[in-house]
Amino acid sequence: MSGFQSPRGLRDLLEPLASAHGWATDRAWAAADAAGYARIELPIAEESALFERAVGGTSDIVSKELYRLEPRGDDAVTLALRPEATAGAVRAYIQHGMRSQPQPVRLATVAQLFRYDRPQKGRYRQFTQFDIEAIGDGGPGIDLEVIEMGAAYLRDLGLTDVQVHLNSVGCTTCRPAYGCTTCRPAYVETLRAHFTPVVQELSQVDQSRLATNPLRLLDSKEPATVKRAASAPAITDHLCADCAAHHAAVTTGLATIGVAVLPAPRLVRGLDYYTRTAWEYLLPGEQGQQGALGGGGRYDGLVELLGGTPTPGIGFAIGIDRVVLALEARGLLPIAASGPAIVVAGIEPESVAERVAIAAQLRAAGASARADVSTRKIGKQLEGAVRDGALAVIIVEPDGRLTLRDLVKASQAEPAERGGVIAAVLRLVQNEG
Ligand code: AMP
Repeated sequence: MSGFQSPRGLRDLLEPLASAHGWATDRAWAAADAAGYARIELPIAEESALFERAVGGTSDIVSKELYRLEPRGDDAVTLALRPEATAGAVRAYIQHGMRSQPQPVRLATVAQLFRYDRPQKGRYRQFTQFDIEAIGDGGPGIDLEVIEMGAAYLRDLGLTDVQVHLNSVGCTTCRPAYGCTTCRPAYVETLRAHFTPVVQELSQVDQSRLATNPLRLLDSKEPATVKRAASAPAITDHLCADCAAHHAAVTTGLATIGVAVLPAPRLVRGLDYYTRTAWEYLLPGEQGQQGALGGGGRYDGLVELLGGTPTPGIGFAIGIDRVVLALEARGLLPIAASGPAIVVAGIEPESVAERVAIAAQLRAAGASARADVSTRKIGKQLEGAVRDGALAVIIVEPDGRLTLRDLVKASQAEPAERGGVIAAVLRLVQNEG
């Protein structure tokens, strides 16, 4: 036995999970296509400075979880495997001059991401997200569109009890162009004042969060912090007039379009770039993080932060791995791809090439078929076809004629010429399918 194992936190996806993963991915692309979101494929690595700038140096994703690659040759740039997709999408928006297109620019991708996280069920070091970005519109209407799309995607997969938890995290990068003044820094000071009296009771990690990024205390899992957070002031009571108006428009708009939301005044997201609208898609009753299917937010300062002209943006990321886990837990996994409908077997070893040719001809005609390429006895070949769940077997006889055996009816026809048997088997799988 080989001593090699897949690296910790990096999984092999076997059936039926591999098919479920592919199915959820196909549905993601289809949802994006249907809403007019242009597909974008981004590189799996970017300059690590892009993530440091975009996501923020104090975030866990950059300070602890980034996989940096050693620079090669003359290349002085340090690359990092992407831990999220938004920074790359915004980099592409700026690089390809998408500002000159009609705004907002709507983009969609399905991306493999890498985070050096502590692996557990639902948390892996390589995982996949369905990512939607709408860049170039600061109004609440696009928030409604994006939030509804994610909810509808999950609901249509069968996760009908998904909840949308909604908050506003105010603004930091405020400029008159967006009609707002800065409200988050003032709130962060209020929050710091709330936690400072109990600083000695907090863990080391949370003491340093209190110093560098107090907002993160609101999603701490440490008991002392959770206890104090329960009485923390809500950011929604501290929004500036424009952020409050935006939040009110999003809240009432979602009610109008029939997306039920739960107000979540302590919801903060792990990334620094979010402004205003922030939300999560949660499944009630799941353990730990497994119910957190995805989340999103507005990032009105990000394009400018990455060197572009000030441009608002909003997006969501839904974790495909967690979606598949939730479907599995509810018995909703789609049927895995089964074995081929037709197996082409043969009496004599010399007929192997002929079997492969017939299977190829059947596939070219749209059927699913494979040849039995072994030299084993016909009885064993038939057993293999039954085990694969095939509907029919074609047996190549020593004289080159073909025998059609219907495995569903357990009946067998007389040997006949190739053309007639192929037509008959195609009719058979059409009727059975
Ligand atoms: P985030 O980008 O951290 O806001 O995460 C958005 C979604 O991606 C989460 O709700 C999860 O569904 C998924 N996700 C994040 N991190 C992981 C991980 N380490 N393993 C699997 N899924 C993840």
